[in-house]
Amino acid sequence: MKKIGVLTSGGDAPGMNAAVRAAVRCGIDRGMEVYGIKRGYEGLLDGEIVNMNWQSVGDILQRGGTILRTARSSRFMEDEWVQHGAKMLETFGIEGLIVIGGDGSFRGGAELAKKGISVMGVPGTIDNDLAYTDYTIGFDTAVNTILGMITNIRDTSSAHERTTIVEVMGRRCGDLALFAGLAGGADVTLVPEMECDLSEICRRVLEGQASGKLHSLIVMAEGFNMDAAELAKTLEEMTGREARTVVPGYIQRGGSPTEKDRRLATVMAAKAVELLYNDSDSKAIGVSAGELIEMDLVEALQVKPVFRADLYELANILGKGK
Ligand code: ATP
Repeated sequence: MKKIGVLTSGGDAPGMNAAVRAAVRCGIDRGMEVYGIKRGYEGLLDGEIVNMNWQSVGDILQRGGTILRTARSSRFMEDEWVQHGAKMLETFGIEGLIVIGGDGSFRGGAELAKKGISVMGVPGTIDNDLAYTDYTIGFDTAVNTILGMITNIRDTSSAHERTTIVEVMGRRCGDLALFAGLAGGADVTLVPEMECDLSEICRRVLEGQASGKLHSLIVMAEGFNMDAAELAKTLEEMTGREARTVVPGYIQRGGSPTEKDRRLATVMAAKAVELLYNDSDSKAIGVSAGELIEMDLVEALQVKPVFRADLYELANILGKGK
């Protein structure tokens, strides 16, 4: 394979730039021509395809976001447009594509693979919601960003003896809340995968209050089946303590990637290039038990998520008021 392309798609994640850099430089190092496709599948359909050189990915390793930019493309959900995308790649002589994104982006890649393109999926999403891999690029940075906020919030919550509900991203996958709740010392961690009713949340906050805790911290995933503002209102009424909500929103997406995300992005993208160089079938790259893995792209999308119940239990034990 002589010409390959790289694109970033779906929600941006810190570390995507590190992956683009490694894809471009490893490709050039192997004697291939590497093309950057702007704005995900949307840019592919519009032919926004540029030749990349060694220096075009200089000074981006440490930056969040993605220099290739990203987009969601409703056109690409239709088969005739996927066909158009494959034609566009053909026009440029591009035989292999590295797709850096989440599960939706991988599904788009799997459709392109059906049209004869070799597609390598590199998991880039802060949600950590691709079940075939232990970690996705951007997750570690986002958890650490949330932790920084929690540390600040604890100071002011203690000073005012408040309850604070931090609502973090994660519609179907509660990993951001789970990992931040565990490492941030939340009294209660609420995730979409586990039920927890209002009376139980109140009981736990009251228990903490009775044991002398100066403040209560609840970390809640946005996909948990309760409205944060309503929960705060109910908690105020039931505990007599002021309760506030904090929604970090898009702040969770930005920022300089951590060492872990830069390393993951770099080794995964390098692996994707190696597979394309060796004319491999379409694959998803990931990590399992600390080792780099590769799996058939379609099979990877079928892996069922396993919730880390052990971590959830531990977070709840440690958050108890005793
Ligand atoms: P994140 O979860 O981090 O936002 P994502 O990659 O899952 O990232 P999506 O918006 O779900 O984000 O998908 C990105 C794009 O991938 C979509 O806008 C669409 O263009 C394409 N895509 C998603 N699903 C399909 C599909 N079944 N067929 C073709 N293209 C798809």
